[in-house]
Amino acid sequence: NPVIITPEQHGIDARQLCSSATEVVERLQEAGYEAYIVGGSVRDLLLGKAPKDFDVATDATPEEVKNVFPRARLIGRRFRLAHVRIRGSLVEVATFRGPSGHDDKHVTDEGRILRDNVWGSVEEDAVRRDFTLNALFMDPVSGDIQDYVGGYEDLVARRLKLIGDPETRYREDPVRLLRAARFVAKLGLNLDPATEAPVRAMAGTLEDIPPARLFEEVCKLFLTGHALRTMESLQRFELTRALFPVLERGEHLGQAAVVELTWQAMRNTDDRIANEQSVTPAFLVAALLWQPVRDRAEKYQANGASEYQALEQAADEVLQLQVQRTAVPRRFSSVTRQIWLNQARLRRTRGKRALSILRQPRFRAAYDFLELRAREDDSLAELVAFWSEAQKDPELQSQVQVEAPR
Ligand code: ATP
Ligand code: MG
Repeated sequence: NPVIITPEQHGIDARQLCSSATEVVERLQEAGYEAYIVGGSVRDLLLGKAPKDFDVATDATPEEVKNVFPRARLIGRRFRLAHVRIRGSLVEVATFRGPSGHDDKHVTDEGRILRDNVWGSVEEDAVRRDFTLNALFMDPVSGDIQDYVGGYEDLVARRLKLIGDPETRYREDPVRLLRAARFVAKLGLNLDPATEAPVRAMAGTLEDIPPARLFEEVCKLFLTGHALRTMESLQRFELTRALFPVLERGEHLGQAAVVELTWQAMRNTDDRIANEQSVTPAFLVAALLWQPVRDRAEKYQANGASEYQALEQAADEVLQLQVQRTAVPRRFSSVTRQIWLNQARLRRTRGKRALSILRQPRFRAAYDFLELRAREDDSLAELVAFWSEAQKDPELQSQVQVEAPR
């Protein structure tokens, strides 16, 4: 039986809950199903943070959810669920999962779970989740929280702990290694010693994850406002090079030699998110992989290639290696590439051709990148000053306009 934590004990005000998630739960309960708010949203509320989205778990199958909410969309293959949109906000409704372990269509020889669509009870759904504090079920009507895994206690102790045997749980889904690093950083938690113990030795299992899923995870790691601390956490748990094998190794095999430009880009990204400015994975990838691009380009230039050609060859090689691990979509990698190549073009400041770069859609990103580089390379200061003026100078701008048709 679960431990019940009452509203008097946990102190969450029901009004803090997302009204659309509450409505989804109420309507499922009225239709005779069991339903709760679960996962990250309950955790974040208990930790005093604003949840970014709300998830609902229920014993209704996705088809039954669709009967209650005819406009719900059923999505996912590895993990099927229903998207319900209520007054503009999206609620993910997942059916309780049972243990999927014993059917060989669902699990690889290494123990990795491929599909997780076997329905189960609320208790089974609790224990198949990753960390104890992600497995709390809240009924928004009564305000009670059901805890089958000791998650509330861990949460109060600020302890991040996998449910069950850590090594088995990482094997089932190696992305949990990255989730551990991310939650430690984002929530300021301590990783439970038994949960931490296998992490470093298992970093290599991330190689088996489809590159598209790893790219999604990379975006969650670095584009949700805690990039700097997440990078520190990845380094601490020696997971960095599993994501970016093209980076040179640091002190330990799984650590990368992270250059100042990368740390600075992480700080910028976090600041921009804090100020509600837009961020793009393209810029971040450019910063993360600049060092190997530059190293290669220098080598090619020493062998006689022009600066631009050398950079181009280096850029293509490094991107090609990276997408094998994290599938950076073309719409981002093409921007990354332009940011890099424009570093060579920005070195030319004379002549109308040089100025035509001002009209390029990627000029701004390339300029920002140059500015970032200048922070650790004083010799670039003049160049930054030139392009900073050029952007403001109407006369230069008009020369560029004349140049444009050619
Ligand atoms: P955030 O949204 O801040 O990234 P979250 O905990 O909500 O954190 P989601 O990816 O939205 O993370 O997943 C919702 C819930 O689903 C989690 O809280 C957890 O209970 C469960 N879950 C997610 N990913 C996994 C996984 N790889 N293995 C087991 N359970 C998972
Ligand atoms: Mg979530």
